[in-house]
Amino acid sequence: MDSILIIGAGAAGSVAAKKCAMNRDVFAKIHLASRTLEKCLKVQKECATPITVSQVDADDVSQVVALIEEKRPDLVLNMALPYQDLPVMDACLETGVHYMDTANYEPRDEARYSYTWQWAYHDRFKDRGIMAVLGCGFDPGVISIFCAYAQRHLFDEIHYIDIVDCNDGQHGKAFATNFNPEINIREVTQRGKYWKEGSWIEIDPMSVSCMIDYPEVGPRKSYLIYHEEEESLVLNIKGLKQIRFWMTFSDNYLKHLEVLQNVGLTRIDPVVYKGVEIVPLEFLKQLLPEPSSLAENYTGKTSIGAIMRGVKDGRQEACFMYNVCDHAQTYREIGAQAVSYTTGVPAATGAMMVMKGLWSGTGVFNVEQLPPEPFIEELARQGLPWHVRKIDPRSYKELFETA
Ligand code: NDP
Repeated sequence: MDSILIIGAGAAGSVAAKKCAMNRDVFAKIHLASRTLEKCLKVQKECATPITVSQVDADDVSQVVALIEEKRPDLVLNMALPYQDLPVMDACLETGVHYMDTANYEPRDEARYSYTWQWAYHDRFKDRGIMAVLGCGFDPGVISIFCAYAQRHLFDEIHYIDIVDCNDGQHGKAFATNFNPEINIREVTQRGKYWKEGSWIEIDPMSVSCMIDYPEVGPRKSYLIYHEEEESLVLNIKGLKQIRFWMTFSDNYLKHLEVLQNVGLTRIDPVVYKGVEIVPLEFLKQLLPEPSSLAENYTGKTSIGAIMRGVKDGRQEACFMYNVCDHAQTYREIGAQAVSYTTGVPAATGAMMVMKGLWSGTGVFNVEQLPPEPFIEELARQGLPWHVRKIDPRSYKELFETA
């Protein structure tokens, strides 16, 4: 296996394409296709080695099938938006090609995050003899693989997981999102929830917060939100009692978001304007900076990890497994900001695992179901080194004292 088709030439997709182009021993053939050909051509120019490009509308299964039949890839890496997950999976089924993505499917008219739609493809992928790997970005992705690694090597049983995600970068814009604005705003305006002792506990959006001390960044106010990897981790981490997800938001970001919500610009239902139906959030997306355009003057770091507590050899243990990534450094290396880098590099690394046969199987898999060791070793080589810090298990609860 040596041929990859990447769909989506946005912020994260361009990082994945450039990383693949830096690893020609694994990816002999690389084709990048996206809705806007100009974006593919720009990435093509910036790649270290030659790749081919074309235009595709991945909402249209027949276009993706035709492209796959022409390029004959071994794997389709879907770096477009969650809306395209099912059409691209359908095209993979039709052509018998492996599939990978970084975000779970969501319908356009409902901001609901669930793997159920994609898990429903399991038997069809299995019968076709191909694999689909879901959620191979950073979170979901690297974080889920940290949990799988910790389950195998650091604990006998993990009881508590707190995923902590800080972007302490400054891009200098009044308001911008670090990944696709439409998807980002849909995610952060939903109700929060976390999982405890077998049940999901719902909370109002941004209603629970605490100060978390992030490596190489320091204490930052963090909000309890729902994030998609929790849905699969509760099934795949045995003995788990609780999982939560915390993310930092600046006061400035929250102030803008509140105003945009109050005036109705984050609505996802269509409104009629001058006789034409428009979706306010889709219109707002057109006004906001593209995430890739933030890269040039971005400073500061992302600091993202999983804090875990459980038992090992009969003793209580706790640890913090994390990565820190510097916006200016990723810009120098590949022309991207750290949020796109930390999404695109794991996707390219996961693609390597499939190409090399280190991740194999038939059916639909979340990344934590696949061997974590070769992935995290390669991840560090590809630019995302990770660390494990021991924590006193008695202090675990205090780390999340709510404000
Ligand atoms: P961008 O908006 O920068 O890129 C999305 C790209 O997809 C654009 O180039 C867009 O084309 C293309 N696209 C959209 N619709 C279609 C279509 N119908 N056919 C073909 N191409 C299409 O977003 P990001 O790169 O920031 O995010 C990409 C994905 O990564 C998102 O799904 C996001 O949820 C996910 N993500 C995952 C993370 C993780 O850690 N797991 C973290 C961050 C993001 P055009 O340029 O024409 O609009």
